[in-house]
Amino acid sequence: MTESITEITHWIDGAATAGQATDTAEVYNPATGQVTGSVPLGSPDDVDAAVASARAAFAEWREASLSQRSSIMFKFRELLDANREELARAISSEHGKVFADALGEVQRGIEVVEYACGVPSLLKGEITPDVSSAVDAYSMRQPLGVVAGITPFNFPVMVPMWMFPMAIACGNTFVLKPSEKDPSGSLILARLLAEAGLPDGVFNVVQGDAVAVNALLDHPDVAAVSFVGSTPIARAIHQRASANGKRVQALGGAKNHMIVLPDADVDQAADAAVSAGYGSAGERCMAISVVVPVGDVGDRLVPAITERINALAIGPGLSEEPMDMGALVTEAHRERVSSYVDLGVGEGADLVVDGRGLEIDGYPDGFWLGPCLFDRVTTGMKIYEDEIFGPVLSIVRADTYDDALEVVNGNPYGNGTAIFTNDGGAARAFQRDVTAGMVGVNVPIPVPMAYHSFGGWKDSLFGDTHIYGPEGVAFYTAYKAITVRWPDPHERGVDLGFPLAT
Ligand code: NAD
Repeated sequence: MTESITEITHWIDGAATAGQATDTAEVYNPATGQVTGSVPLGSPDDVDAAVASARAAFAEWREASLSQRSSIMFKFRELLDANREELARAISSEHGKVFADALGEVQRGIEVVEYACGVPSLLKGEITPDVSSAVDAYSMRQPLGVVAGITPFNFPVMVPMWMFPMAIACGNTFVLKPSEKDPSGSLILARLLAEAGLPDGVFNVVQGDAVAVNALLDHPDVAAVSFVGSTPIARAIHQRASANGKRVQALGGAKNHMIVLPDADVDQAADAAVSAGYGSAGERCMAISVVVPVGDVGDRLVPAITERINALAIGPGLSEEPMDMGALVTEAHRERVSSYVDLGVGEGADLVVDGRGLEIDGYPDGFWLGPCLFDRVTTGMKIYEDEIFGPVLSIVRADTYDDALEVVNGNPYGNGTAIFTNDGGAARAFQRDVTAGMVGVNVPIPVPMAYHSFGGWKDSLFGDTHIYGPEGVAFYTAYKAITVRWPDPHERGVDLGFPLAT
């Protein structure tokens, strides 16, 4: 099967452009294993052009009234709604996830745009009249200028939408550097923003790899950087951009645990573990990768999970017959994940379900790996310590709730976590004591809604601010406090004392 190759572009100053760079990377359809696109790897000159366009556009965009900004966001939201399927097809054909899951990704991005439509309320300041005689005090939040977003392969549409709708609605201009593995969604978003009436230069896309990223991090006209990706890169981005004086939020990788207490409904817990472990082939930063059954519940849970894994439909994300799980993003990633399965066997974990060697009829070259389940994993094993980011679920058995909590809190990552129980007291203690940024009680993937904020703790986030929601508004704006006195012609005189309310 041969597919035609699409020449992917940047989007700078309101138009698609091939840019200056001569280096390119191949983009694959993971289900067929064929090259379907060629993406330019942006050079520092391409970054300069995008930042210059964003800088020039900022002068006018920061002056756009709040109703102009929210009206563009409303139009953009309508266009996203009308083009959901085109976006989901682009995601599925470059990422490999199944169509229904790609539609879900688009929906979660739309929700952030809906929140950004309310920017007039979100940017309201506070006023305190009469802080002193004839003196009033108030606060406002102002945009930062040009801000950059650097995003991972696993949510090529949703993660950019965690960033730019908030940034733009707050009056900033934006340069996006999407993942080079699945870049097409970014260009659909750029086109829809232009159709919604966003002025040229307010949203730009520079395709590329570390070269483009580093040019953004070092660019003197970039005021802030939002990053989402793996922990080593997040840590490095945070250090480099901070050293350059920029505001940074860098969200990293994860190892998300799900504790199952002995009183939990085992069928519901097994449904949740399989959905959250193998959805999107485990390529989600909020995927459950470790289940921690407490006491003897593991003896019932492991067979229930195994039964559900064996019923999963695996195949091309865009096949007519709906599938549960698609291919992995690249051949290299498939090999990496598969090598962790070999490693787990070598480390002595009990491989209950082995997805290696999976073949799908009609798709001999796809990047397939079936679901894998390890029982009796211990915290010293590499398959426990490392983020595998594939369809590999580990069971770490614990004797007591306290032992289970110690496992979760001892892990260096702290993105999401969940507890399955019918014991309200245990659930309440867990919410308070667990060291993770997003907690689910009988909810396996507790991704916050757009009006809360998303972010982990520990090695899952570098910086102070979570992404989107109220913290997103704070990240993309600078706080200013103003004190005003309208002079009373009768009050005069020099006073060198420190200003005090009188
Ligand atoms: P990645 O870290 O390899 O890449 C992320 C971005 O950084 C891409 O745009 C990439 O081009 C760029 N990049 C890669 N290497 C770089 C380098 N050396 N210097 C500068 N930039 C570089 O991540 P990925 O493989 O695309 O995505 C998967 C990872 O993202 C997983 O670790 C997953 O947990 C994480 N993730 C985290 C969240 C979250 O909210 N915490 C959400 C989604 C994904």
